[in-house]
Amino acid sequence: MAASMAGHVLRQLGASSLLGRNKGAQVTTRRWLNLQEYQSKKLMADNGVTVQRFFVADSAGEALEAAKRLKAREIVLKAQILAGGRGKGVFDSGLKGGVHLTKDPNKVEVLTKQMIGYHLSTKQTPQGGVKVNKVMVAEALDISRETYLAILMDRACNGPVLVGSPQGGVDIEEVAEKTPELIFKEEIDIFDGIQDNQTLRMADNLGFKGPLRQQAADQIKRLYQLFLKVDATQVEVNPFGETPEGQVVCFDAKINFDDNAQFRQKEIFAMDDTSETDPIESEAAKYDLKYIGMDGNIACFVNGAGLAMATCDIIDLHGGKPANFLDLGGGVQESQVYQAFKLLTADPKVEAILINIFGGIVNCAIIANGITKACRELELKVPLVVRLEGTNVNEAKRILKESGLPITSANDLDDAARKAVASIRKK
Ligand code: GDP
Ligand code: MN
Repeated sequence: MAASMAGHVLRQLGASSLLGRNKGAQVTTRRWLNLQEYQSKKLMADNGVTVQRFFVADSAGEALEAAKRLKAREIVLKAQILAGGRGKGVFDSGLKGGVHLTKDPNKVEVLTKQMIGYHLSTKQTPQGGVKVNKVMVAEALDISRETYLAILMDRACNGPVLVGSPQGGVDIEEVAEKTPELIFKEEIDIFDGIQDNQTLRMADNLGFKGPLRQQAADQIKRLYQLFLKVDATQVEVNPFGETPEGQVVCFDAKINFDDNAQFRQKEIFAMDDTSETDPIESEAAKYDLKYIGMDGNIACFVNGAGLAMATCDIIDLHGGKPANFLDLGGGVQESQVYQAFKLLTADPKVEAILINIFGGIVNCAIIANGITKACRELELKVPLVVRLEGTNVNEAKRILKESGLPITSANDLDDAARKAVASIRKK
């Protein structure tokens, strides 16, 4: 999905980042779990971070009810999609802006009708936009100043880094590009934790004065504590603003979570809203398979991300293009192989399948049995090139050979890629 703004800001500053490193093939997968704004704000509120009062609605009627229940002087209505830049976005209903301020609850209903069920396009969405299923109805607060604040894991800093700018609001990328001196960084020692002098210095750099200084520093500290507690890779608040009444408020929230921490963040991962994820990707995840869609025509079935990258590169080298790759991971079951085939062949772009499995932990014979079973049951219609290597490979080769199925075997990765590309050319 859309690259994160914080990663973008750091990249523009010349720092390396964990985010958005895909070059070449168009990878259309998400990098980390991303939650909707209302979900992130709930986590923030539960952890002492200041956010506005809000309700979530998935119909115009509910939005109207929510607006009335808030009993607020003014209401802010926000379309919930995972991409940023909503304020300046456009709906295919014709409505301009994914964020609206109004004093009239009835207007909330009218606006919601033009949001829910429609696609919102912003600078960060894929072409055609993203369908809106929910809106956030919140109490609007006046903003006297908008700053930018993010905490992210950064490779160049070997740990978390606090990034902030007194020039927050919608165009933080432009700030990073044109006035990089207005972006401030504090590297955090993961063992020592965030220090008071760091949060106060950031508060100063962001321009919080008087009693707001300590308040901002406290909010930053709480955001850092939340960042650690939920295994986030990024917490981005833009705007991190102040009100004329003297409150520091997180007006927007974007939290990404480390997928490797899923085992200990079950509640958070259970909130995963897959409606914006590629359906094949979600289906793959059910079987503990990693699927990544690309725009070529050769499906790659591999084990391990490294082998996946190598396979894609070698296909490319021989003039082919990967359609997707499916990563089996470690402890493989025969049934997973079957599911993997089903997913790979569900993509109509696929004209050939290349299997490249290195059996270290994986037993090649299990893969071979899975392949023959899947080929028979799914009546495979595209050429299949198989390269197996490692544990029990001779038995695996015998199974494939004796199956009588039209499977092309390959001796090594180069041979496999060449044969896969050739199998399409022949047609
Ligand atoms: P984004 O465009 O997707 O980043 O959505 P935001 O939540 O950041 O909202 C966009 C802009 O709307 C913000 O930068 C603010 O200027 C404005 N905004 C959001 N909430 C409020 C609010 O409660 N009061 C006021 N006055 N402006 C708001
Ligand atoms: Mn924002």
